[in-house]
Amino acid sequence: MRFAKNVGVWLICLSFFLAGVQPGATDTAVVQPGSTDTTVERPATTATTVVQPSATGATVVQPSATGTAVVQPSATGTATDTDVTCPLCHTSFKAHTDYSSSRLGMRLDLKPLGTTAAPWIIPKCPNCHFIVYDQDLIDTDQELLLKFVNSLEYQDIVPDNSTYFLLARLQEALGMDTYEIAHTYLKASWQVDTDRAKCGKYLEASLAKFQAYLASDKIIPHQYVMAEMVSGEIERRLGKFEQALSRFSRLQKSSEFSGSSTVMSIIDYQLELIGAKDSDPHDIKM
Ligand SMILES: [Zn+2]
Repeated sequence: MRFAKNVGVWLICLSFFLAGVQPGATDTAVVQPGSTDTTVERPATTATTVVQPSATGATVVQPSATGTAVVQPSATGTATDTDVTCPLCHTSFKAHTDYSSSRLGMRLDLKPLGTTAAPWIIPKCPNCHFIVYDQDLIDTDQELLLKFVNSLEYQDIVPDNSTYFLLARLQEALGMDTYEIAHTYLKASWQVDTDRAKCGKYLEASLAKFQAYLASDKIIPHQYVMAEMVSGEIERRLGKFEQALSRFSRLQKSSEFSGSSTVMSIIDYQLELIGAKDSDPHDIKM
């Protein structure tokens, strides 16, 4: 019964996602004023700054709690350019953001549906190719990131990988929390979901991080529920049907999961897809 109360917390997280919140690796959510008459809800995360363009073209630099999201559009449905300065090489550039506020649910892999950008656009420095998740880095991070971004290892992966994949590698270089990095690789998979080979590679990376998290002694109860559900989804998407079947069968019998009809209906749906050997993305039926 260790996690008995946590399905409820997970469902609250899920409801935030369904309301249009991009999944971060967070414990709490902050409601952030939009530039007009709307609000943008965004999960709090760990320790960075979010550059948020307002609808008037002014930029609001706002402290957040993670290493993930960056240029966050307001919910007005217009496009804008934002001035960004790379904290590593000090190159200034314009980052374009396109978005819409339509959010119509989410997929089993947590990708929000609708015409909103998912994941949110994140600027890449045109000079050194750093992913500018924060324009004001602390000294120790700056030193580590400068070394990693200038390495052959990083420069080699730049041309063929998406911004969130690069962000995940930066987070690994900083030794960030595995649960956070798992979500960043998951978002990277959304960016390439028409490229099956690359999407598979990103999903494998995400699954490896979720497994490392689940095997660790740092498990936070509602993150445990999310990590198990998403791991099963990734196994199904990768065609690892035996593992996915075994995982969801175990979760189905677990009192921590069976207490919620919503969670049980998602598990039932996953088992149905696994039975049909279906590895495609699917929407959550609510
Ligand atoms: Zn740069």
